[in-house]
Amino acid sequence: MSFRNFKMVSYVVFGRGSFNQLDEILTPHRKGDAPMVFLVDHYFEGKPLLNRIPLRGKDKVVLADVTYEPKTSQVDELARSLKEEFGTISGVIGIGGGSTMDLAKAVSLMMTNPGSSADYQGWDLVQEAGVYKVGIPTLSGTGAEVSRTTVLTGPTRKLGMNSDFTPFDQIVLDPELTKDAPANQRFYTGMDCYIHCIESLEGTYLNEFSKSYGEKALQLCQKVFVEKNQWDNESDDQLMMASYAGGMSIAYSQVGVAHAVSYGLSYLLGTKHGIGNCIVMNHLEEYYPAGVKEFKLMVEKNQIEIPQGICKGLTDEQFETMMNVSLGMKPLWENALGKDWESIMTREKLRALYERL
Ligand code: NAD
Ligand code: ZN
Repeated sequence: MSFRNFKMVSYVVFGRGSFNQLDEILTPHRKGDAPMVFLVDHYFEGKPLLNRIPLRGKDKVVLADVTYEPKTSQVDELARSLKEEFGTISGVIGIGGGSTMDLAKAVSLMMTNPGSSADYQGWDLVQEAGVYKVGIPTLSGTGAEVSRTTVLTGPTRKLGMNSDFTPFDQIVLDPELTKDAPANQRFYTGMDCYIHCIESLEGTYLNEFSKSYGEKALQLCQKVFVEKNQWDNESDDQLMMASYAGGMSIAYSQVGVAHAVSYGLSYLLGTKHGIGNCIVMNHLEEYYPAGVKEFKLMVEKNQIEIPQGICKGLTDEQFETMMNVSLGMKPLWENALGKDWESIMTREKLRALYERL
């Protein structure tokens, strides 16, 4: 038996207004006149946050188009254009939701590793540390701020650059940055955390490390989505810490059925991660009875519409594609259903599940 020895984020700052410390945080990491590149979620175009970015010298703000989830081609293009413009950079700071943070992690790695980011989709394929990288979430739930992966859609698969070089060197957790998120988006991304917790706590990989973080994250999700009747500053604080703890829980376990099935939707239909997980979770009573019951309660209480019937009219070939992507996520299935998962989640069973969505 060998236990996972995992790399974590090196520095963490938490607090309302901690974004104002960014200049001071970055200063020791500036290498000569090589710029810092701020990759900012395009939602913030024309918003006051852009004026609070501590630009110095040749520093550059690049708006990240996250209309679609990050692609390897997008990462390669960003890294290529930065190399062309600057040669080398001091660091990259991702400010946004999970998509922007993943882009920032991947661009950091592709500033130093040769080839295409698609070459590194998988586990422990990255060979060189990237440039200094900072993650600043503006949505809470994915856990991308603490994870050792960056989820990318490539030419042949949707899979992360999962490596010890992937975690951020620094994260800035400032709950003030999440306060204007629309209620629907906040719910979908928040549910990513809730679902991570259920999948981790109900999984076969669970140990006390994962459980401790998972239970805390779950409790915080319940506070904001079940117990409270109104969203307030404290809710932003709580959901940000839920995301962090949920990510820490996954570091030592794995996600499960909702994620494995949702990856197929996202690959074929471009369904976004948060909403895709919700669409699937809605139909998983058989695997997570208590979690699904509470999930439905939260959907109702927060007056969220979960899309139905999204697989109507798909061809056999399309179902096959989704099933292949989904069944390729072996560790997720093993965590959810145990070593014999292949005899439990047969292709027929998975097809029937997709047809219900
Ligand atoms: P997102 O980053 O895709 O953003 C969703 C939408 O919200 C975008 O339109 C964005 O512009 C907008 N937005 C962001 N911040 C906002 C704010 N403060 N106010 C208003 N709008 C805002 O959403 P997400 O759910 O945070 O991230 C999903 C992505 O994260 C997926 O690409 C998924 O694959 C990835 N992910 C990564 C990990 C990981 O460990 N690396 C884990 C889970 C999910
Ligand atoms: Zn997730």
